[in-house]
Amino acid sequence: MKRVYNFSAGPAVLPEEVLQEAAAEMMDYQGTGMSVMEMSHRSKAYEKIIQEAEADLRELMNIPDNYKVLFLQGGASQQFAMIPMNLMKNGVADYIVTGQWAKKAYQEACLYGKANKIASSEDETFSYIPDCSDLPISEDADYVYICENNTIYGTKYKTLPNTKGKTLVSDVSSCFLSEPVDVTKYGVIYGGVQKNVGPAGVVIVIIREDLITEDVLPGTPTMLRYKIHADNDSLYNTPPAYGIYICGKVFKWLKKQGGLEAMKAHNEKKAKILYDFLDQSKLFKGTVRPQDRSLMNVPFVTGDADLDAKFVKEATAAGFVNLKGHRTVGGMRASIYNAMPIEGVEKLVAFMKDFEEKNA
Ligand SMILES: *Cc1c(COP(=O)(O)O)cnc(C)c1O
Repeated sequence: MKRVYNFSAGPAVLPEEVLQEAAAEMMDYQGTGMSVMEMSHRSKAYEKIIQEAEADLRELMNIPDNYKVLFLQGGASQQFAMIPMNLMKNGVADYIVTGQWAKKAYQEACLYGKANKIASSEDETFSYIPDCSDLPISEDADYVYICENNTIYGTKYKTLPNTKGKTLVSDVSSCFLSEPVDVTKYGVIYGGVQKNVGPAGVVIVIIREDLITEDVLPGTPTMLRYKIHADNDSLYNTPPAYGIYICGKVFKWLKKQGGLEAMKAHNEKKAKILYDFLDQSKLFKGTVRPQDRSLMNVPFVTGDADLDAKFVKEATAAGFVNLKGHRTVGGMRASIYNAMPIEGVEKLVAFMKDFEEKNA
C-alpha cells in the first residue's frame, strides 16, 4: 500500500488513524455483526454514534446550549437556498462576496428576496478580504452573510465583520475545526464536511435556537426547514449515517490531538513553513495579500503557465497530488487541512526548492 500526500481542496485528506479504525470496524461494528453502512439509523448502536458525535463536536467548539447542531445533506450548496428560505423574515439580507462560494450563495439568495452585495473583492480576483469594519448594513437585513475561508482563493477573515447587531451567517466549510471559534458571535455556522472534517455527503449546521421557526418563506419544502431537522435531532429522515460516523471519529481524533487550540498551533506552524518559503522564493509566489492568508488553502504561481503545468506534473509523479490550482486563479494550490501531517508540507517545500534550482 502506498499513500500519497494529498493536497486536494476537497474531498480531502483524512487522518490515517480514522481510516484504519473504520477499516477495522467495517465487517462487524462493535459486536453488532454488521457495518455501520448496513445499520438502521433508528438502532441503539447508531443512536449512540450520532449522539456521541454531537456531544464531541459541542465539546470541541464549546457550543452553547441555545444552539442546535444539525447533521444534514445537500452539501454546503444547499445551504445557499436553505438560509434565505428560513431566515429571510423581512426578505432582505446583506452579502459580502469574497470568492466563488460567497458569490454563489449571494446569487441563490437573490432568488428568494432582496440580497444586497455590500462588499466584494472581485476587483482583484478575490485576493483579499475587504475592510468590513463599517459597511452599509441594511436597516432591515435579516442577516449578514460571509464565507469565512475562501477555499479557491486562499483568503480568510482574521476579524469578523461588524454586522451592527445583525445576525452573522458564516460558511466555514474549508476552515471547520481548524482553530477555536466563539460560536456566540454567529447566528449560523455551517459547512460541508468534505474539506476538513469527513467524507462528502454531510453538512453540519450550528444554529441559534431563536432562528429556528415555523415562519419560513412560502413553499419551503419540508426537507429544507431547519425546524423539522431540529425537532427530530437530525433523524427526520435517513441521515448520511456512515458519513456522520466518520465525522464522529474525526472529532475524537481532534480531541486526542488536544482540541482546537492545539490544531490552531499545528496549522499555523504548518502554513508558516509554506508561506515562509514562498516569501523568499525566486520562482514561486503566493497570490494572496499577506494579512488575509488562509491557514488551510495556499494558492501560488510561478507566473508562467507552462512551468506551472510542469511543476504539477512532476509533483504528482513524486507523490504530491492534487496541487493544480482552481481554473479561475491558475497555478497551484496546496490545501493543508488538519489531517495533512507537517512532514507532508516539509517534503513539499523541499520538492519546490529542488524544482526551483532546476528551473531557475
Ligand atoms: C466546497 C465549498 C462549498 C460547496 O460545497 P458542496 O458541499 O460541494 O456544496 C461551499 N463553500 C465553501 C467555502 C466550499 O469550500
